[in-house]
Amino acid sequence: MKEVYTFQCGCKFPILEEREPLPLLDFDIRKVRKDCPAVWEMLGKGFTKGVFQLESRLGKTWCQKLKPDNLEHLTALGALLRPGCLQCKDENGISTTEHYCLRKNGEEDVDVFHPSIEEILRPTYGVMCYQEQAMKIAEIVAGFNLQDADVLRKSIGKKLPEEMAKVKIMFLEGVEKTKIITKKEGETLFSQIEKSQRYSFNKSHAYCYAIDGYWSAYCKAHFPVEFFTEYLSSAKEKQKPREEIKYLVAELKAMDLEIFGPQLLDWEDDFWTDGYKIHYGLGNIKNVGKTQINKIFSMRETCKAAGLPIDKMTWFQFLVLITDKVASNSMQNIISTGALSHFGISRTKMLAEYNIWKDLKPQEQEFIRANCAPLNDLVPALERCAPIKSCGGGCSRQTRTQALISAANSLKNSPTSMDDKPNWIVSIEKNLLGTPITFTKIDSCDVSDSNITCKDFLAGKGGGGLFFAVEVEVVKPIKTKKGDAMAFLTVTDSSSASMEMVVFPDVWTACSSLLTDGNTLLVEAYRDKKKNGCIVKNVYQL
Ligand SMILES: [Zn+2]
Repeated sequence: MKEVYTFQCGCKFPILEEREPLPLLDFDIRKVRKDCPAVWEMLGKGFTKGVFQLESRLGKTWCQKLKPDNLEHLTALGALLRPGCLQCKDENGISTTEHYCLRKNGEEDVDVFHPSIEEILRPTYGVMCYQEQAMKIAEIVAGFNLQDADVLRKSIGKKLPEEMAKVKIMFLEGVEKTKIITKKEGETLFSQIEKSQRYSFNKSHAYCYAIDGYWSAYCKAHFPVEFFTEYLSSAKEKQKPREEIKYLVAELKAMDLEIFGPQLLDWEDDFWTDGYKIHYGLGNIKNVGKTQINKIFSMRETCKAAGLPIDKMTWFQFLVLITDKVASNSMQNIISTGALSHFGISRTKMLAEYNIWKDLKPQEQEFIRANCAPLNDLVPALERCAPIKSCGGGCSRQTRTQALISAANSLKNSPTSMDDKPNWIVSIEKNLLGTPITFTKIDSCDVSDSNITCKDFLAGKGGGGLFFAVEVEVVKPIKTKKGDAMAFLTVTDSSSASMEMVVFPDVWTACSSLLTDGNTLLVEAYRDKKKNGCIVKNVYQL
């Protein structure tokens, strides 16, 4: 037996028990290395769902921009994602947060303002991120003692104008005394402190958050299947469980993990994993609650005891023997979500047969159960049951005979195809499972003109001349400073990854009628190298 398991990233853990796909490992999250490249790679791709402090859209977007690769970056990000730094913009409209990202990635020169405070600002590329930095700077350039510096921190934090005015005078007087920087530089520096510190964090606080974020990201990067299964299970406790499931599923697919819909034969109540793939539980289907699950479970046991286990049944046997044990809306949803796919019959056909079966009179159902087992198909069974009782059938009135014959005919000569259409499956799964699992809306579109997927774009592929075949998830119209209308789109595609696109005013004016939630589009776009965003040039209906 091997004693140590080594991940691709080089992380090693003692093995407690050999098993597939991952052995049971012995580890204490507080003792894992703090520099695992797999964690930084995952965060840089924006896979932040479930990562403490970074799971919002804001966290995702800025992780993609920053591409943190050490704990210092993660700590700074926690502070930089506060409203103060995001809103504090320079004369070119670049926020403090953005400056930090640009400098970290070598796209802008680092400016430490003055050599005397270089040591304080160098670790954050010249950007003032933390309260501790402001206090330390005041100590050096204005000779503040710890007490003065604390007054500075408090008065800025609490935004007390009178206190502020006093501290400013104190600061400038100090600057004149120490003569390390000029009075003018002192004024500039003070206004910078004032702006950046308005909502700022202290570093120790930000570091604690970063560690929690790192640990959750570490679990996700090394045990992604288990991580997502756990998060999907706890989605029901969130404010918007279906939204949560949608985002989790989109991200796990974008991370090349697989998720499967519920199955009657191989199931648990809740999301579960076999260690390779993630599966819905039967209880994750809309309207299939604990009561119905208990009924399914007890009928499984009954069938097994009676010598006809559910996995050996045909669809016809299941239909006539089992389906009426479960509430009809639950059964319809179990069929529609593909949980009975092991019968090898389309969901549409099973649903049509089930709807006919459940509307039969109890004595008709009884007749079919007693007399039609060898027929093993609903159509001949209905025909066998259709005559009235005196003629050897199971119906009590002529009108019922007519009803059964026409039901049998509707199945034999259905006006519409009994094949499952991808679009129907998409809408059913969206409604009953929270998100489409089997197909995406794009799968039923002609995508031959597209040349890139969202997933590939997020992985850094493609520059100009890009064509995406996407479904619009969210349109967020905004106004520019000049008052022109533009928008941010959130789109998804056949890769199931979800990404943001920017629609500037000229394109918005021309195309806004096509940019609606749920529409499927061919989007012509290019990568904005500097901000690493996707800019829309034109859109066409798919
Ligand atoms: Zn690792």
